Amino acid sequence: MSLVLDGRAYATQMESELKTRVEALKQKTGATPILATILVGDDPASATYVKMKGNACRRVGMDSIKVEMPQDTTTEQLLAKINELNNNPNVHGILLQHPVPSQIDERVCFDAIDIKKDVDGVTCLGFGNMAMGEPAYGSCTPQGIMYLLQKHNIELSGKHAVVVGRSAILGKPMAMMLLNANCTVTICHSKTQNLAEIVKQADIVVGAVGKPELIKKDWIKQGAVVVDAGFHPTENGGVGDIELAGIEEIASAYTPVPGGVGPMTINTLIRQTVESAEKSV
Ligand code: NAP
Repeated sequence: MSLVLDGRAYATQMESELKTRVEALKQKTGATPILATILVGDDPASATYVKMKGNACRRVGMDSIKVEMPQDTTTEQLLAKINELNNNPNVHGILLQHPVPSQIDERVCFDAIDIKKDVDGVTCLGFGNMAMGEPAYGSCTPQGIMYLLQKHNIELSGKHAVVVGRSAILGKPMAMMLLNANCTVTICHSKTQNLAEIVKQADIVVGAVGKPELIKKDWIKQGAVVVDAGFHPTENGGVGDIELAGIEEIASAYTPVPGGVGPMTINTLIRQTVESAEKSV
């Protein structure tokens, strides 16, 4: 019998705990945690993600400030806005929605976010602190995956984790978090040779590749823990980066798609903003 790592259920439970914490903070200090979201340009998917983040803030009693900037925004204009939010004592977290238009230097803008407000875990400094095991807000998707694994008491120490993907927001921080949890970690990417053979050795597989069902079911070792960060809409709902049909016959635990990793990402953003607000008073 395979354990379902139900991110939707855990995120719902966490929301009610966060609501209590937000209420307690309001009672104690009169302050309401505020997340500032910055959306540059008119990408409809990004607009939807920002809206979902604002809605999640409201569900736990937080506020959000929604900053919208035009498609032709320059790096300097975006930096000026980030600085303004850095200097606003009422703002506890800043989310710059990725990706920004190509004329903007995204890395420079991410790194301009005050480390105390980097609740999305996107700065180099935050990544470095996390990698060194120092206090830091983790990048939300991998951090949410870690919360989900911990919640279900998935044993990590000594296990061989194979992370497929090495992006700055997902694959790389995921690998460091698993390493810090004493996994033996292999990171795979587009130049990796013999991907199937490597995945077949994994006790824990993380699909963070952005290609529908690239990782095949018959690559998964019997009893492995399967984590799928991908989501690709289909006529029947959606698929992830891992072929999940029938996975319950192989995996000891797995994240469903949808309803596994996805809900944990926004929940982690909210959780880290509440933490930032608690620390700031
Ligand atoms: P990304 O920036 O496009 O990175 C994809 C990674 O996969 C890259 O490191 C790339 O290697 C690697 N890759 C591509 N083709 C490969 C292949 N054939 N074999 C092995 N590795 C390959 O994507 P991302 O932002 O990390 O996102 C990855 C997935 O997670 C996507 O499905 C995305 O939708 C999902 N995601 C979900 C959430 C959420 O909230 N649930 C958040 C973020 C991302 P190179 O580095 O060599 O190019």
